[in-house]
This record gives sequence, structure tokens and C-alpha cells, in this order.
Amino acid sequence: MSPSTSAPRKLKKATKAKKKPDWILGPTPRDIFSPANFDPEPKGPEARNIPEIERLELVVANPALYEVATAVLPRKEPGTRGRTPHYPPYVFLIYVCAISVFNTARSTEANLQHKTIWEIVREGVRRCLGDVEADSLPETGPQRHHWLQYRHKMLDALPQLREASRDAWIQQAIALGYLSEERPRGCWLRPDRSQVINGDATVVRPPSDQTEQFTRDEKTGKMRRRRVDPDAGIQIEGGDRAVYGKKIVSFSVRLPERAHSRIILNADGARHRSPEEDPDREEEASTALRLAHEILDRAPGVIAAVFDTAWRGTHRARLVARGIVVYTPQHDGISPKPLNKYRYDHCIHDVYAAAGRSCERHISVDGQTIYTPLPVRELPVRPGVNSYRFYHAVEIPCRNGPHIELIPVYETKEDRTLDPRTKRSKFNRCEHLRQIPPNTDLGDRLKGFRQDSESTNCTLDYSHWDKRLPAYGAPGALLIYLGFAWMINSIALGTVGEPRR
Ligand SMILES: [Zn+2]
Repeated sequence: MSPSTSAPRKLKKATKAKKKPDWILGPTPRDIFSPANFDPEPKGPEARNIPEIERLELVVANPALYEVATAVLPRKEPGTRGRTPHYPPYVFLIYVCAISVFNTARSTEANLQHKTIWEIVREGVRRCLGDVEADSLPETGPQRHHWLQYRHKMLDALPQLREASRDAWIQQAIALGYLSEERPRGCWLRPDRSQVINGDATVVRPPSDQTEQFTRDEKTGKMRRRRVDPDAGIQIEGGDRAVYGKKIVSFSVRLPERAHSRIILNADGARHRSPEEDPDREEEASTALRLAHEILDRAPGVIAAVFDTAWRGTHRARLVARGIVVYTPQHDGISPKPLNKYRYDHCIHDVYAAAGRSCERHISVDGQTIYTPLPVRELPVRPGVNSYRFYHAVEIPCRNGPHIELIPVYETKEDRTLDPRTKRSKFNRCEHLRQIPPNTDLGDRLKGFRQDSESTNCTLDYSHWDKRLPAYGAPGALLIYLGFAWMINSIALGTVGEPRR
């Protein structure tokens, strides 16, 4: 959506007219997705509050931060004017992280100018890079003009910084036992939390909500020039909240029952302008898909990926083929699709896909169409040469005794063939049939993991003054987000080893 000229303050809750379906869904049966002995995920302990000083200590103790900064950030030429202090590139990456620690660039500058705080940075440098490097640093931290000067260079190297950070985060996660191929991984149905990647899109607010470049000053009547974020627009967050800002998509993973164990694995900005304005746009769902593939390429231990309703069947199908369970809530307003009419000697069963799973279709005495979810007894998984095949072993209850049918829940070759009439692929199977269907105990468990990624966004908001990211433009916002992720990940790195409280 392009930026609107209406004042964002007047944003109302976006409302969607929901069409009432003309059919009824039967009750969710007890089966492998809703077992009788289901144990909900235990609640984790309350997170202890980590003070700013400790956050900074943890950031500067992360050895990967120095490696990434040194590998991809340009070295700043020493100042030409006499005694301009010289700061190596990693100091500016620390500066970006510190903006999330101290809330604003101004407060970051003031803190880094303070001897005690700057000594914390030098201590971190000493431990990671040695005495010579630490002793060569200037007596105080960079001032805001140093940061503003170097920021341009960081933005030039932003794609490389994003990729190197992603690789380092994934490696650190694996080293800590997350996403591991060896560790007890749980099963397809109930993957251990440390093997599930959670995606989320958040709208970050620009420094000001100004949408018009020139406004008339009410007192003087003069036109005044305002700074407008070129990339901000009205975005829908969480399905129904309209927020003015820029969208950032990220994936994270965490350990069960461990506070501060979340590691952000990957992040990027999603562009949202209309295709006419921005033909190379990559909106939320495809950005998230790319990020998930990037993680799977580097972490084959992932068992499941969870995202929101922005992912539809075609997005999910490609990840399912890679052998992971993909969970998203089911999109509203999907009509049931006929799957098969199973004919046996003495009976016929009309099976449809509704609400993400196989259902038997009945017509009630008063003419209502009822779709009764069929219990699934097994989730067979067959690794293939090029892709994984997932099935539901479905039980069709019958007066002649139950029938068992194997129904694919991955996109089959047959599904992809083009229908000569519509010129579209025959069946968007992953849109209609879900490996772990929504509204089941195990589906709800995975959905619960998402609330946690929403809390990451909450932390992001509260890590910045007035819940705004201090950067105009999408690249500037991504840079701040990368610093935020380094902070969150450094906290996990430093505290996962702490004794359980
Ligand atoms: Zn039958």
C-alpha cells in the first residue's frame, strides 16, 4: 500500500467483512493431533529483568560481532584533521546495538561518552580481541557525528552485513544446541521448541508520522518543510491493526522453559508499495519464505516453521517439500474442496478438504451441509530424492467397519499439472490440507509459539523511545533491527549457560 496522505493518527482498526459460511464444521475428533493424553507446553519461568549495563556487557562479549564487523564493514579512513579519534568498524556495530540498549542515538552517545560505560566496551574488546586492540581505542566512545558519518558506509554494506549476521546467528544457535541434527529433536507431530523456527512481521514506526513534505504553520502561515519517511506506509499488523511504518520480517527460535533464550536467526525488510511504484517489491509472505529457505539451507535440523496467515498454500508447499512441518493458522473464507468419493463394496464416502483437513460431507435432515473432520491415525513421512512426501492416514468411520485411506498432504505431481480448462494447477493441496491442522491440540501448541515471537516485537518497541525506530527509510530501519537482533542474541548467548532459576 502506498503512503496515505491522511493523518495516521486517525487510523482506525481495519475491519474485514466476514462472509458467514453456508456450511457447518463437525467436532474435532480425538486423534494424533488431539490425543486424549495431550500435555500442553509447560509455561516458562518469568524472565528476569536484565539491566542496560548488563545488556551492553553481553553485546560486547559476543565474539561473532567482531568477526562479522571486521569481515564486511568498510574500515573508516583515519581522520585527516589532526587528532580526530579513530574507531574501528566493530565500534559502530556496537553503537548500533547500543541504540537498542539505551533507546535513542542521543542517549547512546551520552552513555558511550561516560568513562564507566566506555570501559565496559573496552573490556569486551580486550577479552575478544586482546590488549593491543583494546589499548588502541580512543579514551571515550564515538560521538553522534562519528556515528552519522559512518552510518552511510554501513548502509552501503547493509546487504553484506545482513547476510554475515544471519550466518553468524545461525551458527551460534546451532553451537548452543538449537536446530541441531543430533539433539533429541522431538517428532514431526510434537517437535521440540528448539527445532521450530517462528516467523513474524512487524511494522516499525518511523521517527515521525509526518506524511506531507510541506505543511503550513498554523501560527505564522508560512510553509514549513517536514521530513517524511520515504518508505513508510500504512501497514496491517497482526491481521487487523493498521500502523504507519515499515515492515520487517524475522525468524527466531528459542528453548523450552528458558527465559531470554530467544535467538533471532534471520531478518529483512519487506517492501509494500504497489507493483506499479515498485516492480521489484517483495512483500511479506515471499520475504518470509526466502528467509525460511535461507535458514533451512544453513540449519538442516529445523523440524517445523510457524508463520501467520500471509503464507498460503503455494508458500507452504515449497517448504513442506523440504521436509519440514509448516504451521500457520488457516485463512478465513476458504471453501471446502472435493477430494475423493471413496467407493467400497457396500458404501460410498464423500470426502472433502475443509478447515485444513479431510472431512466427510453429509447433508443433515434440514438440508444443512456438514463437514465432519475425519480422525487421522498416523502422519507417514516418506523422504524422496527431491522432496519429502507427507500423508495423513485417515480413518473413515462406517457402519461396515472403519476404512483407512492414505491422503497426501504435500503437493503431488498430479496436483501441479495444469487443468486444461482453467490453465491453473489442478489442486492447491497445501492450501486445503495441512500437515498439522489448525484447531487441534498440537496445532494450537505451535500457534502458541507465535505469541512468543510477538513478544520479540514488543521488546523491539520498548527498546526504542516512543516505540519508534530512530531511522528514516527502510535500509536505516533494517540496520537498527540488525543491532536489536545482535543485542537479543548476545543476551541468549550469555544467559543460556546460566543455572536454571
Ligand atoms: Zn463405508
